[in-house]
Amino acid sequence: MNIKRNIESVLSELKGSGAKLVAVSKTRPPEEIMEAYAAGQRIFGENKVQELLAKRPELPDDIEWHLIGHLQTNKVKSIVSHVAMIHGVDSVRLALEINKQAVNAGKHVQCLLQVHIAEEETKFGFSPDELLQFITSTSVQSLANIQIKGLMGMATFTEDKDQIRKEFRGLRKLFDEIKSRQVPGIEMTELSMGMSSDYKIALEEGSTLVRIGTSIFGERITNKQTA
Ligand SMILES: *Cc1c(COP(=O)(O)O)cnc(C)c1O
Repeated sequence: MNIKRNIESVLSELKGSGAKLVAVSKTRPPEEIMEAYAAGQRIFGENKVQELLAKRPELPDDIEWHLIGHLQTNKVKSIVSHVAMIHGVDSVRLALEINKQAVNAGKHVQCLLQVHIAEEETKFGFSPDELLQFITSTSVQSLANIQIKGLMGMATFTEDKDQIRKEFRGLRKLFDEIKSRQVPGIEMTELSMGMSSDYKIALEEGSTLVRIGTSIFGERITNKQTA
């Protein structure tokens, strides 16, 4: 695996789109992360709280850590001071907990609201209706220590490119609609969509943050549980 070359190749795909790369380093050792760092990469994504907390002290301070996976409310407290952005805010309850722990820690945390766009039942997220309800509710205004920066979504795991495109397009539409409402406290500048297998489609549909692991670091060897 030539990590540097892989990053350069992904960045060449992003060129002109204005989208940023989140290098997904889950299951990868610090040495491999340092290879990506040496190639200039600064934003890294992890999906498990314990793994992120274990790696972070071993790596340079100017890395911007993003938590990209599902986050359980009981783990919010330990992570809130250590991440720049949480991509998977998938319930009102979780948003309230992140805000509470951010207040306690004296921090502000950037959050993306995860929307369920895939056909699979297993993927987390707000339904579009729940999302609209949440962003127009009064509770969203009271979340002083979280900055809602946009939306995140994961497409169905399928070979059907039209299906994937349709889902990303739907998410972009929802993003634009919320943005046009100009809700106080909700920024809508980031749209996190696209992984190794589908990021080119996501870019065409207006992604601003792609989360890429396999195309940079290679196939993950195991599915090891680290959290
Ligand atoms: C693992 C993961 C990715 C990256 O997946 P690849 O297929 O390796 O690029 C992106 N987003 C989330 C939420 C992930 O858990």
